[in-house]
Amino acid sequence: MFPLVIFSSTRFEQHVTPPGHPERMERAHVFDAVAARWVEKGRRVMTPRAATGAELARVHDGGYLDRIAATAGQPAMLDSDTFTSADSYEIALLAAGAAVQAADHAVDRREPAFALVRPPGHHAERARAMGFCLFNNVAVAAASVVARGLERVAVVDIDVHHGNGTQSIFYEDPRVMYISTHQYPFYPGTGAAEETGAGDGYGFTFNVPLDAGATDADYDYVYRQAIVPVLDRFAPQLLLVSAGFDAHERDPLASMRMTTGGYASVVRQLTEVAARHGSSAFVTEGGYDLTALAACLEASFAAIEGTLVLPEGIDRQATVPVRGERALASVRAAQTACWRGI
Ligand SMILES: [Zn+2]
Repeated sequence: MFPLVIFSSTRFEQHVTPPGHPERMERAHVFDAVAARWVEKGRRVMTPRAATGAELARVHDGGYLDRIAATAGQPAMLDSDTFTSADSYEIALLAAGAAVQAADHAVDRREPAFALVRPPGHHAERARAMGFCLFNNVAVAAASVVARGLERVAVVDIDVHHGNGTQSIFYEDPRVMYISTHQYPFYPGTGAAEETGAGDGYGFTFNVPLDAGATDADYDYVYRQAIVPVLDRFAPQLLLVSAGFDAHERDPLASMRMTTGGYASVVRQLTEVAARHGSSAFVTEGGYDLTALAACLEASFAAIEGTLVLPEGIDRQATVPVRGERALASVRAAQTACWRGI
């Protein structure tokens, strides 16, 4: 039993995107609904604080922070699909702050935490907003616990898109290992198995690119065969999860076939491996079908706490995980010098 604490705020609806944009304020209403149900169960939801300038400056350039700060009070277009409204700067600070607090809670209490935030973060680079992201929330959280003295932090990105921002921020840093499963080739174009880190960070970027159409069985296969064993060897003191639910079969942006039960199974595996070495903190990323987002969040909470009875669903005998096998073949070839034997 891992008692879970949630960090969220009703203010996340105040980041407003143009009509028809998939990363819309209604996603915040899903967070509010699942947080309210959590409170009804007598559980804790903590109100986050804004990230500080010092926290953001660990992963973003000063000039970039000035540019985003200058959007306060007016709408701006930062990228072909990344927009701000009058309050977006303040709300993005709150999203990054919630991620830092969730990470701190996990480290201090050795209990899992879940930050329900928007805008998402994993596409944001040191000096560039992109893919709906302003500040890289999970990277700010990882850098924050490294500044506190942690030596091994893992970020596992379960969003269907590759987290180009998180990868690039820590590409040469062996203290933060970045692991991602994602549809490939797909937006944003990065995430090939051959991208394995550089300099001191060589071997600490671990990409598992999956063909479109991957199922629960494919994801289960790559987590069980490679990601969990690699995490056990890396032994992270904190495991941060970029919790995107857009690999769900209902999602309108991508082409994967994950079910809610499949996501819960991945979350369960990550929570268990994290607990063997430290603890885990989850930070939301994408997930654009509101029904799937709500279902995945609630199933994840139960999976983290160990109260979810996983569906019989993932029948490892009946479904040959062809996409998972193909992905792992490329990962093994690329990572042979660093992670022999996976
Ligand atoms: Zn995504």
